[in-house]
Amino acid sequence: MPAPSLPLAEANLDLEHCTSCQACVELCPEVFGWDETTELPYLKTSQGPEEDLRKAAAYCPKDCIQVNAGF
Ligand code: SF4
Repeated sequence: MPAPSLPLAEANLDLEHCTSCQACVELCPEVFGWDETTELPYLKTSQGPEEDLRKAAAYCPKDCIQVNAGF
């Protein structure tokens, strides 16, 4: 779990165009897990550190990740 002082954000995942590159899993493993069966990422939890989530969203080549802060 992140420290309470870290700003949290919500993540949404739309896998329609996912290329299975696993960048999201590497950049924010607190939130994104890897499903070996489907070879797609999944949300382990809907909330995580905003900075890591924004990094994952920026690196995703297909814009699959939406980050909602300030909920
Ligand atoms: S970074 Fe984007 S394209 Fe890559 S595995 Fe994650 S959701 Fe899929």
